[in-house]
Amino acid sequence: MARVGRVSECLFCRLGSGEIPADVVWETDRVLAFRDIDPQAPVHVLVIPREHHATLGALATSDPGLLGDVMAGAHAVARQEGLVGADGAEPGWRLVVNTGPAGGQVVHHVHLHVLGGRWMSWPPG
Ligand code: C5P
Repeated sequence: MARVGRVSECLFCRLGSGEIPADVVWETDRVLAFRDIDPQAPVHVLVIPREHHATLGALATSDPGLLGDVMAGAHAVARQEGLVGADGAEPGWRLVVNTGPAGGQVVHHVHLHVLGGRWMSWPPG
């Protein structure tokens, strides 16, 4: 049987295209933000480019403009979720990009974790 088109095996590509449903909180034509299925904080949203780039480095190298859009998306989500105060500083939030095996990256489609709603500790695990 002939196959029409290419079916992506990348989970976040499938979320980004709408093929798999997600709890979407913010989106543009190139960027999608959705709630993490295993939240590590009261606010835990993942921000991804819809287009496939495996790591932060891959995205920064091939499309730095899109990386800027993803970063701006993370800030827009933080504002929308009430993590950014009127002066831009309070109450605060954290942006995490796990990169590669030593960095704890499990899903190999670059994603920014927007975390907030609780006091963060340092160093991270
Ligand atoms: O940065 P890292 O690759 O470790 O994180 C992947 C994240 O994707 C995890 O926080 C996981 O809970 C989330 N995830 C998700 N929805 C899925 C599969 C994974 O939100 N269907």
